[in-house]
Amino acid sequence: MSDYDLAVIGAGVVGVSTALWAAMRGHRVVLIDPAAPGSGTSSGNACTIATYACLPVNDPSVLSGLPGLLLGSNTPLSVSWGHALRHPLWMLRFLANCRAKPSSRIAAALAGVLAHADAGLNPLIEAAGAGDLVVARGQISVWSTRAGGQGAEAGLIRRRDLGVNWQEMTPEQAQEAEPGLRLSIARAVHFPDARHIRDPEALVGRFHAAFLAQGGAHLSQRVLSVAQQGERVVISTDADAVTARRAVVAAGAFSGRITGSGAENLPLGTERGYHLMFPGEAARVTRPVGWGEGGFYAVPMARGLRLAGTVEIAGLDAPANAGRLAYLKRRGQEMLGPLPDPDSSWLGFRPTLPDSLPAIGFAPGSDRILHAFGHQHLGLTLGGITGRIITDLAEGRQPNQDIAAFDPGRAFS
Ligand SMILES: Cc1cc2nc3c(=O)[nH]c(=O)nc-3n(C[C@H](O)[C@H](O)[C@H](O)COP(=O)(O)OP(=O)(O)OC[C@H]3O[C@@H](n4cnc5c(N)ncnc54)[C@H](O)[C@@H]3O)c2cc1C
Repeated sequence: MSDYDLAVIGAGVVGVSTALWAAMRGHRVVLIDPAAPGSGTSSGNACTIATYACLPVNDPSVLSGLPGLLLGSNTPLSVSWGHALRHPLWMLRFLANCRAKPSSRIAAALAGVLAHADAGLNPLIEAAGAGDLVVARGQISVWSTRAGGQGAEAGLIRRRDLGVNWQEMTPEQAQEAEPGLRLSIARAVHFPDARHIRDPEALVGRFHAAFLAQGGAHLSQRVLSVAQQGERVVISTDADAVTARRAVVAAGAFSGRITGSGAENLPLGTERGYHLMFPGEAARVTRPVGWGEGGFYAVPMARGLRLAGTVEIAGLDAPANAGRLAYLKRRGQEMLGPLPDPDSSWLGFRPTLPDSLPAIGFAPGSDRILHAFGHQHLGLTLGGITGRIITDLAEGRQPNQDIAAFDPGRAFS
């Protein structure tokens, strides 16, 4: 049974970023995950360092538009009714957080942590020599209907009030910036401070290599449970047991399956999302372009074009929904014109608490077990800063930002 300063459970972008931060600060760290680093939800996302994305899915417009969103077949949101009925509390809390007051509170908390996202990520990019994977061309959001563009106004104003930098583009400017768009553009907005990653799985792989180079250890085992015993945490896996002074649960949407961690008592759900990959088609766009009405992004990547997004409320074990992939292909062609057959499709699991805020901090009742999950649509963006905050907490230091909103022991609605 080896003994470490810190054990990090889960090698997604959040876990690997945490492990690298802690190793860079000189701690003896073990990362535990049976899967390859960054191969889970962290691999298939829309690649965007979305520092502008402080508005949660919990938005008052969700309540007013709910019937249309749920009953239409051509919408970016789909709900498994069986799943919703089995988990009514998560759904009710999620909807309760769509009311104006909680939605504003959530947006302010997200804006607060997003303001530190680059400061958490950039040192890792530098330590990992991964600058070649990062592209700084901003992000463009387009709406193809007048109603959609007008509907976005309130949210854009809220973002500006929260310090997000965005610039209105004329439809002509947007078309000139992204000539591959085949939509009729009613409104376009540029977020110049956003960046994107040419291959998020490769980014996490580079962070992982830097972690090993710093002397970090990796155990390819599945964690079953954790237990605090005095000044140590015992982490039991399917093959072994490891002890550490502190343990971090960073297993994304699967965190609640690790018993004894406190995560099993939190209302962690998942917003499932999909992507399609089109090799050789990366030049269709020059930066991530989000289509408001479509609910997805077109992203130029190292190995092709990725269409990624949509939200499906369903369980972790339900099979992929072919209808959602057909939606992406159909709407992708509306956005970009005819596309060849994709070479691959993917389903991923955004870890989402009902208030769309991550859990970052000590597990309720523990001074040894930390939680670092629930990053919903923003894990790639917030992995770095989460790692820095968790390392501060593990060292007994006060993070240089207010993290009260992310307390795992908070009320969720
Ligand atoms: C379609 C889509 C688009 C997205 N676009 C963006 C975007 O553009 N920008 C952005 O910032 N975010 C985006 N996201 C969100 C982002 O991808 C996630 O928030 C992020 O990947 C979550 O990272 P994670 O490390 O928490 O979880 P994961 O990447 O899921 O990693 C969890 C790890 O834990 C491991 N694990 C699970 N159980 C155990 C166990 N018992 N023992 C040990 N290990 C275990 C898994 O094997 C996995 O490696 C998107 C998500 C989706 C689905």
